[in-house]
Amino acid sequence: MATRSWVPVPEGSDFPLQNLPYGVFSTSGSERRCGVAIGEHVLDLAPVLGDQSFAAPSLNGFLAAGRARWEQVRRSLTSFLSDPSHAIDVEPHLIARQDATLHLPFEVADYVDFYASEHHAINVGRMFRPDADPLTPNWKHLPIGYHGRAGTVVVSGTEVVRPCGQRKAPDAPPTYGPSQRLDIEAEVGFVVGVGSAQGTRVAVEDFREHVFGVVLLNDWSARDIQFWEGQPLGPFLGKSFATSISPWVVPLQALESALVAPPPQDPEPLGYLQTAGPTALDLALEVALNGHVISRPPFAGMYWTAPQQLAHLTVNGASLRTGDLYASGTVSGPERDQRGCLLELSWNGTDPVHLADGTSRTYLSDEDTVVIRATAPGADGVRIGFGELRGTVLPAAPGGAGA
Ligand code: MN
Repeated sequence: MATRSWVPVPEGSDFPLQNLPYGVFSTSGSERRCGVAIGEHVLDLAPVLGDQSFAAPSLNGFLAAGRARWEQVRRSLTSFLSDPSHAIDVEPHLIARQDATLHLPFEVADYVDFYASEHHAINVGRMFRPDADPLTPNWKHLPIGYHGRAGTVVVSGTEVVRPCGQRKAPDAPPTYGPSQRLDIEAEVGFVVGVGSAQGTRVAVEDFREHVFGVVLLNDWSARDIQFWEGQPLGPFLGKSFATSISPWVVPLQALESALVAPPPQDPEPLGYLQTAGPTALDLALEVALNGHVISRPPFAGMYWTAPQQLAHLTVNGASLRTGDLYASGTVSGPERDQRGCLLELSWNGTDPVHLADGTSRTYLSDEDTVVIRATAPGADGVRIGFGELRGTVLPAAPGGAGA
């Protein structure tokens, strides 16, 4: 198998031949259609593959086609982009990435968010239940999750309006107004291609038959709204206003070199959650605030893995649909500079994060821009990347504060 493309790929690019992530793009005046990223270009898939299903404004048709088709298309694209004899036919369908607008890559069906980092869960437990065991009794027995709001999942670059809602200071009645504790959560999202029938379960070992690929995800969180509303049912309006995902879906096939053994689990989970071999992904995340890196969360150490989460979310017979998105939960490592949200980085606002520009933050200010990136080991010893997941905070909508 070739290791280089005849398309120029700059040194350190997120998108060498070994990646080939899928997205949806348009150029000036054109319809949205599916493409893959290679170096500084997007390859227009429909004409190259002679398949009009890629002329669609979402990847859903391809996602539903299943693993055999995913592998076949990847083989074809690898051949087209590595064998110079194809260049004359393929080159007319390469678009400079700077001329392409990237869109939400798939229609999100259901959205679920998990809570799989032991370090994150322990930090949150220490902050809010200082007198109790930081982990709840269920935490090491099942991957905890909640259902989120699919309709507000947006693509990287979409601005996020500061949400309004109920906030409550200690010893005071609740008030309505803009969130004063707007936060991020750096996460990894898994994109379901092939659905399942209601009443059936998906086994951990069938993960790759159902899940197509991986995106970066920012689970924007209004902590003041979240913590007032969240007892006893959990996140609602504090998170449903926006969830951002990266525009490129990295296929699982591109991440085979990133597979590593997950951390040992004690106690041993129930049978339907037991896995063997390398099922965790060695992704190195980076979170930047206004251009200053504030955290480098490691994904490989997450306690619960994506196959376990998939098995758990279907173990009651709940169906999967093409376009379902489930997220890992905040990715936090054991070190302070590996925490994936400002809640932890600023220890609930008590220990500000100092940026290299001389400013500091406990939570996000208006006009702040957050960029999440990630890399992973790819085939042939190269590193592959996810591109960037970018979002800027806009001031709360006018009129919100007085409602
Ligand atoms: Mn989250």
